[in-house]
Amino acid sequence: MAMPERIQVRLRGIVQGVGFRPFVYNLAQRLNLAGYVLNDSSGLVAEVEGPAPAVEAFLQALGSEHPPLAWIQDRAVTSLPLNGDRGFHIRASVAETGKFALISPDIATCAECLADCTDPGNRRYGYAFTNCTNCGPRYTIIRDIPYDRPHTTMASFAMCVPCRAEYDDPANRRFHAQPNACPACGPALMWDRHPCLSAPALSAGIVEAQRRLAKGEILAIKGLGGFHLACDARNAGAVARLRARKRRSDKPFAVMVRDVEAARALCAVDHAAARALGGPRHAIVILPRRADAGLPEDLAPGNRTLGVMLPYTPLHHLLFSGAAFAALVMTSGNLSEEPIVVDNQDARQRLGGVADWFLVHNRDIYMRADDSVVRMFEGEERVMRRSRGYVPQTLDLGRELPELLACGGELKNVFCLTKGTHAILSQHIGDLENYETLVFFEETLGNLKKLFRVAPRAVAYDLHPGYLSTKYALGLPGLEKIGVQHHHAHIASCMAENGLTGEVIGVAMDGTGYGVDGAIWGGEFLVASYAGFTRRAHLRYVPLAGGDAAVREPWRSALGYAGAAERLAGVGGHIGEQRLRAVQRMIATGTNTVMTSSCGRLFDAVAALIGLRTEVNFEGQAAIELEAIVDESCEERYAFDIGGEELDFRPMMERIVKEEAAPSVVAARFHNTLADAIHEMCLRMRRESGHNRVCLSGGTFQNMRLLGLTARALRASGFELFLHRRVPPNDGGIALGQAAIAAQRMK
Ligand code: ZN
Ligand code: ZN
Ligand code: FE
Repeated sequence: MAMPERIQVRLRGIVQGVGFRPFVYNLAQRLNLAGYVLNDSSGLVAEVEGPAPAVEAFLQALGSEHPPLAWIQDRAVTSLPLNGDRGFHIRASVAETGKFALISPDIATCAECLADCTDPGNRRYGYAFTNCTNCGPRYTIIRDIPYDRPHTTMASFAMCVPCRAEYDDPANRRFHAQPNACPACGPALMWDRHPCLSAPALSAGIVEAQRRLAKGEILAIKGLGGFHLACDARNAGAVARLRARKRRSDKPFAVMVRDVEAARALCAVDHAAARALGGPRHAIVILPRRADAGLPEDLAPGNRTLGVMLPYTPLHHLLFSGAAFAALVMTSGNLSEEPIVVDNQDARQRLGGVADWFLVHNRDIYMRADDSVVRMFEGEERVMRRSRGYVPQTLDLGRELPELLACGGELKNVFCLTKGTHAILSQHIGDLENYETLVFFEETLGNLKKLFRVAPRAVAYDLHPGYLSTKYALGLPGLEKIGVQHHHAHIASCMAENGLTGEVIGVAMDGTGYGVDGAIWGGEFLVASYAGFTRRAHLRYVPLAGGDAAVREPWRSALGYAGAAERLAGVGGHIGEQRLRAVQRMIATGTNTVMTSSCGRLFDAVAALIGLRTEVNFEGQAAIELEAIVDESCEERYAFDIGGEELDFRPMMERIVKEEAAPSVVAARFHNTLADAIHEMCLRMRRESGHNRVCLSGGTFQNMRLLGLTARALRASGFELFLHRRVPPNDGGIALGQAAIAAQRMK
């Protein structure tokens, strides 16, 4: 007989709320081991006692058979003296101050739960809140750790006898599933103000919702991380009404479709995209729209793409079951740029003017989280907006960091906390331009500090004195303040995501960021490390008149180039001679004029000169439309100059002001030229510095055409190329870079 032994295993990673304790329990039973398992504040602890080979098999299986949503970051094993206990038990969780455990993001409904709620013989038939240890709400309902029911917004629902039995049965899929519920004991739907009985059939609320949606009415639907505003995506009248009521300018609406087949009817969906659509996170995937999709133009004006997602809660699945529609607009339930609404009362007040009806429920959302957005590039998803399904999964930076807070930027704000080796990025907060968004920022910060037990010693901020995030950082008492240049942060973010150290060539192509020379930067070539950067080159400065108006009116960006005024007088009738001359005068005298190297403004200038866009109503609109019209068969390019530290596009712009080619051809040549110029500058920087690693970052690289052309050229020249995948290239990623830089400077 083999010698008995006893060991203790400590696991850290995503090991709570993902079915790990039942897995360990079942494993120990199978191997006839005695001992216990429990959650503590830093993860999971198990002790097992038995014959040495069985203990060895236990350790093997921990790594190879663990539940699908679990992620083991590290594991510590220690030998203990035998204590002769019998049987294996799951013990109560232990909370310790100062420790933290990683929390799972919210996970889309699993196949087994979907089967439960669509099976007429199942007690959860038609039940909109079905979940198990493999799926369901997590981050959005957790108030504190350890992750146990009393610490969630499920605390107010007492489990019925059958639910309790599942919860207590280690062999059950719902063993210790904290949000476990059924129609008899759990949350319930409400149609408008009326509670709906929801079992054992499709709830009256769902049926009524389907009927109203099919008639073209607009619903506010409470989801996982907030409210959606929904209407039939094929109903042009409904879509137009929703856009008008929501005051959503021209921003594209996302669509939820019944299944992958329904997605294929609207968009080109390749294998990788299908995998992204159906994965556990269920983000909005931006896909090429089919010409024969038959959708109203109003859905995504000026776009050749469409944001598509699949149903990710039982409520969504039920909405589509037997419905007349296969695609619903599902846009964030908010007014213009405010945070997404999460509270029932608040929804009636703020969305009352938009929605005709409300489909709500009584499970509270503790933390709001918008839908995440990804694009596909080289067969992989690239995160553009990181929120539900991703947060609060941490990024392991591979080195111990001091505890700090990085406040991020202004647009698409995300902040970052550090703890141990982890970077903890917040969900998408939004544009920090109003009071409501700042409140959301502070609430989320308070929550994440609590969940991860972070006590920051320093705060990193963008150098722009006008950003609310900067003012917030500078107002924090007692912390070391570390200012970080915007584009340095972009490049450091890409480095940190890719685990790079040392110096790299950093190309940051961007809208606008505060420069250290008082100019507005945004087309930057840096030699950068976490410790600092040298600005080797930038797009040639161009005068830009009119402050905020310059972002809303792309034609102003063109006026820094010779001959543009004459051209603009021809393309955009509504700009008007007078306004053109007034802005020209401002530039000539330097009144209300800044110098900028922004790449985003270069896109604006080109879009205006070819008559595509002279005014926009959201940041980046002109660039998106310019990408959308590119003639992909065109390989021609324009000329450019490199003089010293300047990348000079005047030769290109002088051609474009006289250009007679079709806008799609000009757009193609422009993209080709920009990629060429970036490539050429990187070659020069490699010759000077010897560095062969290039990081691409900044909002302009959300443009997949430019990213693809640039990546191809750089790789062909043998550069080692690093791109964003899990962190957005836009300003939603800069907090990570700020944190990596600040950690370096604190040492
Ligand atoms: Zn499930
Ligand atoms: Zn129940
Ligand atoms: Fe930026």
